[in-house]
Amino acid sequence: MTAANLTLPGTSYGDAGATELFNPTTGASFTQIGAASAAEVDAAIERAQAAYLAWRDVAPGTKAALLRAFAAQVTEHRDELAALEVLNSGHVLGNALWEADNVANVLNYYAGAPERHAGQQIPVPGGVDITFHEPLGVVGVIVPWNFPMPIAGWGFAPALAAGNAVVLKPAEVTPLTALRLAELALEAGLPEHLLQVVTGRGSVVGQRFVDHPLVRKVCFTGSTEVGQGIMRGCADQIKRLTLELGGKSANIIFDDVDIEAAAAAAPGAVFENSGQDCCARSRILVQQNVYEKFLAALEPAVTKLVVGDPAGAGTDLGPLITARHRDSVTQYIAGADIAYSGSAPGGDGYFVAPSVAMPRGVDDPIWRDEVFGPVVAVMPFADEAEAIRLANDTEFGLSGSIYTRDIGRALRVARGVESGNLSINSHSSVRYWTPFGGFKQSGLGRELGPDALNSFSEVKNVFISTEN
Ligand code: NAP
Ligand code: MG
Repeated sequence: MTAANLTLPGTSYGDAGATELFNPTTGASFTQIGAASAAEVDAAIERAQAAYLAWRDVAPGTKAALLRAFAAQVTEHRDELAALEVLNSGHVLGNALWEADNVANVLNYYAGAPERHAGQQIPVPGGVDITFHEPLGVVGVIVPWNFPMPIAGWGFAPALAAGNAVVLKPAEVTPLTALRLAELALEAGLPEHLLQVVTGRGSVVGQRFVDHPLVRKVCFTGSTEVGQGIMRGCADQIKRLTLELGGKSANIIFDDVDIEAAAAAAPGAVFENSGQDCCARSRILVQQNVYEKFLAALEPAVTKLVVGDPAGAGTDLGPLITARHRDSVTQYIAGADIAYSGSAPGGDGYFVAPSVAMPRGVDDPIWRDEVFGPVVAVMPFADEAEAIRLANDTEFGLSGSIYTRDIGRALRVARGVESGNLSINSHSSVRYWTPFGGFKQSGLGRELGPDALNSFSEVKNVFISTEN
């Protein structure tokens, strides 16, 4: 399926104007999407509340069947969803297909939940004590532009499975796949208004999710700065909150591994999705005695990357999301000491060549800031203690990798790094059946995995007297 024969999903919102969408591969505007006003958001939240009250009482097996039907619709439309993401976000086609499949997988995984999210029976004198997992009500999911499909699914699938209704705000620049997913939910038979996608500005739509009392939980993924504002706003109503924020994760390479292999694997851990990934291992720490060898082996692994048309076979990296974001990334690169770079096409697309930087110290912005583009900074370390200290010298703590054949050291370093998601001798990405989230300013709470249901429900304890 190509962009030319795609039918674009639309939206009924528009009281706050419209957003022009640009194809990041060409820089050309291709459609406009209506932006909701605060009153339109409130109306959507009220419809969601009504849908929640009905959904809450739907039989567990029926909920499960509907979520599985939704997953099947997503799978059936994976090519179309992927083509929308290539057009709207410039994602490489193979990645976009993986992202559509991830939504189906997450739906299927949580489709097992309505029939299994059991409470407890706790021994007490004089009666019986049981607990229930009660849904929260309406959940507001706020999604960034870097992974529009997966991050939407990580919010709505467990939220719906736990018995809630969802209002979802996609990033202003990448609304198309979310809009299509909501259509597919209806086609699968999910009740009307149970999953609504509300397009528009963060400061209007996202802010209403924070302020409206019928929204009982906000799931936010995006920048730390906006996340801080949302946390402050949620405090007014003690609103439940999950935050997935930025990262500046370390890839730590000790001298006892196959250095060529570690160098060959490093670009994939940071340049995937053109570096627009909160889990990007954008700092590489290499043990001093293999540092030069590593840098030499990293160069061909970076320069061979093919940057170009995301729909083309053999493309490794597509464009960045917007002209503005490209300018921000290229400014970081211009201000850094660059050891070597790959190449990128010219023209009007938002392409940036992958680059390797030599930080001038731990205060260099290229070492400290989340650039969110295809640039990685490499620094040597002396020993295990220094590796851990440097890895932790950041306000973030989302992911990271540790390369060593010494199992004791691997586990010591894994326990020492203040980060929510680590991989040893691997750059494994997020798995939907394991927990995902950040330490420190990378987030609050965990998504995915077996426990996510608990953060979309409240525990209710009920005591029944047997003596009356
Ligand atoms: P952002 O501003 O944090 O946006 C994320 C989401 O929050 C979008 O849907 C956005 O809507 C919405 N939003 C913005 N202001 C809001 C508010 N006051 N109340 C409620 N919702 C609000 O992120 P960004 O501007 O797209 O990206 C900036 C930087 O954030 C990136 O360069 C990167 O460093 C980081 N980032 C991290 C992740 C991650 O996965 N952790 C993802 C994306 C970005 P609009 O799109 O309408 O503004
Ligand atoms: Mg922003």
